Amino acid sequence: ACLENDISGTDNKGFKGHDMLAPFTAGWQSTDVDPLIIEKSEGSHVYDMQGRRYLDTLAGLWCTALGGNEPRLVDAATKQLNTLPFYHSFWNRTTKPSLDLAKELLDMFTAKKMAKAFFTNSGSEANDTQVKLVWYYNNALGRPNKKKFIARAKAYHGSTLISASLTGLPALHQNFDLPAPFVLHTDCPHYWRYHLPGETEEEFSTRLAKNLEDLILKEGPETIAAFIAEPVMGAGGVIPPPATYFDKIQAVVKKYDILFIADEVICAFGRLGTMFGSDKYNIKPDLVSLAKALSSAYMPIGAVLVSPEVSDVIHSQSNKLGSFSHGFTYSGHPVACAVALEAIKIYKERNMVERVNRISPKFQEGLKAFSDSPIIGEIRGIGLILATEFMNNKSPNDPFPPEWGVGAYFGAQCQKNGMLVRVAGDTIMMSPPFVVTPEELDELISIYGKALRETE
Ligand code: PLP
Repeated sequence: ACLENDISGTDNKGFKGHDMLAPFTAGWQSTDVDPLIIEKSEGSHVYDMQGRRYLDTLAGLWCTALGGNEPRLVDAATKQLNTLPFYHSFWNRTTKPSLDLAKELLDMFTAKKMAKAFFTNSGSEANDTQVKLVWYYNNALGRPNKKKFIARAKAYHGSTLISASLTGLPALHQNFDLPAPFVLHTDCPHYWRYHLPGETEEEFSTRLAKNLEDLILKEGPETIAAFIAEPVMGAGGVIPPPATYFDKIQAVVKKYDILFIADEVICAFGRLGTMFGSDKYNIKPDLVSLAKALSSAYMPIGAVLVSPEVSDVIHSQSNKLGSFSHGFTYSGHPVACAVALEAIKIYKERNMVERVNRISPKFQEGLKAFSDSPIIGEIRGIGLILATEFMNNKSPNDPFPPEWGVGAYFGAQCQKNGMLVRVAGDTIMMSPPFVVTPEELDELISIYGKALRETE
């Protein structure tokens, strides 16, 4: 149930028991389910069919970084639609916006030199593409057994067959016959929940790196192709890494010639106060997944960045085979690429990273001030991403009975008071747009406090 949205709207007459098999939604087949129907957006707010206004603290699904009505993105889309609404990028035919966006992304990503960008429509497709690239790469190197992937418990990497397998949330596996057998999961790096008594963050990171190494040795390093991680875990509960974690993990994967994939779908373009999550944690990935804020979600688009080492091998193999036979009709869709180029231009012109750094202390400190609440176990976050975890007795090991629905109740109080949050069991998540104003943060903190008092 961890990904169910248990807050619904009211008074949407005629839309009960609607015709949509809705993603990640409980009771979609029922005749009395009443969805919240969002009709309009403006800055960090959205409006429902009845005209009620909500502060959208998740920026859609961690994605509308520039808020709900950025005219420059609309103009970029309109201009491209009027010039060339579609052409593909197969067989050495392509479009200027896709070439320009590839160059822009390669220039921007400086944590490690990247050689090529591949375009997808979503983060899930980006991560599926990662697996195919890595397999193709190892086949080219004559290592047909080096095919397994290691992801982490509570990771979220998407919901297609492969990306859902990489995801470490049971709800995405149950009754779908997943995860696929080539995917292994290692520890979730949540210090507060999983550290041993007296263990420091550094010691916790050392133990997790050792567990990863033990798993690699047990499986055989010659069978492990890649390790995938979000710099800060998102949908699994907003979990920033403990101190020294990525240094230690990277040392292990490097030792066994295992590729490192940074899933930057949520973290990229400024959310953590750096342009990429890899910059924040000194990650030197071989491959990178992007989506969401790439276009501020105004058009669906994802991307994979490939390092020269990997790209050279893939290139020589595809020459041998005649082509690199992977791609989507909409890979490099010119309208999506034009919107993404404009979004990136805005991030740079408005110095969005600096803005996030300026504004995020108010968000983080304003909410962390509620940490003393008797029903809150932990409030954690960095930059413009944060989670609150409700717990009994403030203990990481004493959850409230699920039937009490503490998180759902809090979420419903927020909604009643004009604010939408992400509810996953008793974890509440927020990742407001980068353009959230100080006044909107005051509103956010005030509604949060009110909903918390009502929940206590
Ligand atoms: N990777 C991460 C880190 C994500 O948070 C998500 C979506 O939330 C995805 C991948 C999947 O992206 P999409 O929903 O665009 O397929």
